[in-house]
Amino acid sequence: MKKPIFLKIFAGYVLVVFSLAALIFAVSLGTIRTHHINQTKKNLSNLYLTIEQISKPLITEENIEGLDVLLKDLGNRLNTRITIINRQGVVLVDSEITPESMENHRNRPEVITALTGGTGANIRYSTTQRQKMLYVARPLEINGKIQAVIRLSLPLMEIDQLINTLGEHILSLTSVITIVSLIIALIFSHFISMPVRSLNKASKTIASGDFHVRVSAASNDEISELADSFNDMAEKIDASFSELSQKKEELEGIISSMNEGLMVLDNQGRILISNTSADRITGLETTRGRYYWEAFRSLQLNALLERPETSSITEELELDDRIYLLSITPLQSGRGNVLIMHDITGIRQIEKIKKDLVVNVSHELRTPLTAIKGYTETLIEDASGDNKEYLNIIHRHTDRLINIVNDLLDLSDLEERGRQPNLEDTDLISLTDKVLILFKKRLQEKGLALKTSYPHSPPVIRVDPFKIEQMLANLIDNAIKYTEKGSIEISIKTSEQDCIIEVKDTGIGIPKEHVSRIFERFYVADKSRSRSLGGTGLGLAIVKHIVSVHHGSISVESRPFIGTTFTIRLPF
Ligand code: ADP
Repeated sequence: MKKPIFLKIFAGYVLVVFSLAALIFAVSLGTIRTHHINQTKKNLSNLYLTIEQISKPLITEENIEGLDVLLKDLGNRLNTRITIINRQGVVLVDSEITPESMENHRNRPEVITALTGGTGANIRYSTTQRQKMLYVARPLEINGKIQAVIRLSLPLMEIDQLINTLGEHILSLTSVITIVSLIIALIFSHFISMPVRSLNKASKTIASGDFHVRVSAASNDEISELADSFNDMAEKIDASFSELSQKKEELEGIISSMNEGLMVLDNQGRILISNTSADRITGLETTRGRYYWEAFRSLQLNALLERPETSSITEELELDDRIYLLSITPLQSGRGNVLIMHDITGIRQIEKIKKDLVVNVSHELRTPLTAIKGYTETLIEDASGDNKEYLNIIHRHTDRLINIVNDLLDLSDLEERGRQPNLEDTDLISLTDKVLILFKKRLQEKGLALKTSYPHSPPVIRVDPFKIEQMLANLIDNAIKYTEKGSIEISIKTSEQDCIIEVKDTGIGIPKEHVSRIFERFYVADKSRSRSLGGTGLGLAIVKHIVSVHHGSISVESRPFIGTTFTIRLPF
């Protein structure tokens, strides 16, 4: 159960006040009582001197009867019981009771002390008097010898009555002081706990989302320091919250104004955030709170989201006749994914139009170019002198145009979306040898040596043999084209995962600044040489495409005037 701080402080005060009151009451009563008893003892001791004077001669004369009469009278008047006890403990005289009826007093504590020469005092309940009594005993010496003991006793009733009356006075005084103290404690507790209560109330207000609350503490102590810190904290939270809200609004503004569809999914696939573009893609009014498979019916998306890797990916996704560039990025916290969907249907349509144009133009050009080539060849046969020279130039350029047209058609064919290569188990060595036959004559003409390095067991790999043939032909063609002396070397190696084909030459090499761009379409490092050799600038672009449709990789290493090596890795 919760105990308010006010109650705790007040309970502490109550405990202290009551303890103090009880202590004061007990100590003061005890002190007063002791003081009274000591005073009475003193009075009795003084009275002893008188009785000693009276008793001495009578005891010497052994006039016990006379002594009895005298002491009874004296005791009566002094309101004090007087007893004379001999050394054996026998009561000789008692001012109130007949001595014969009294038992031996030798063992009474006060008598024992008196017989040793001291003053004995004791408080106890008297069986004969039937009340609590104070006894004081002293020895009666005659001629330096203890002859008897004089014992004086007084009922304690009077002292007790006095103490009781005094106790009542002290009690009422203590009660008044206690009540006043408690009232003061109540007020104090209230004031001490007040700032804590207001701090508590303010914290609850902040917890409920109102950050404008502040507390004031008029005191100049730790609580006021606490209040200042609290206000400081509240101010900072308020500022941070406003900043956060502003940032959130800005972010929401950006997200909702984005053309791209944006969604944040948790690890269970529930949509936590989605912007209007994303909702538009799904065709639903709102997708927040739903699972992504309720919003998108796409097996491809399901597979992408259920993939085990946690790195981000970008893939093309087809949804309801539209194409999206989808990127999935895992949240840094690992608690979900961010999906961004960029509609690239328009871009793809334009690309298709461009591609169709290239294909159509290439097709249209091929027939007239072949005709021009044929007629030029016929004319060359009959021509002579300058005319023959001009016709040869026309023939060369027509060849180059035909090459370009063919390369463009090849590229378009490779880039055809969704077109899969015709994979077959292929023996790479015999395929390479088949390609090399085509270049034998050219190698001889240029005086270039051909070296081959093949593994012992011919690697069989699942590839499209026509495309790989085309790839090798392009690379070997380049190697011969750009090498004036030396050799061309083809090597085939295998590793655990892939088959490595290397086409190496000792040709002119490629300057460093061109190396990164040679795979681009129409990019030629040495324009004049490429043109004069009938180059199109499309050969390596075709090679790269062929490698990528086989999920392989291609790299180039080249040093000007030393040679170039193309390395292709095709996975098994
Ligand atoms: P091209 O038809 O001009 O040869 P490619 O796409 O096949 O076009 O090659 C692009 C460019 O890369 C070439 O123009 C040439 O400058 C350079 N290149 C390609 N292969 C080699 C090679 N083996 N040695 C030197 N340069 C090369």
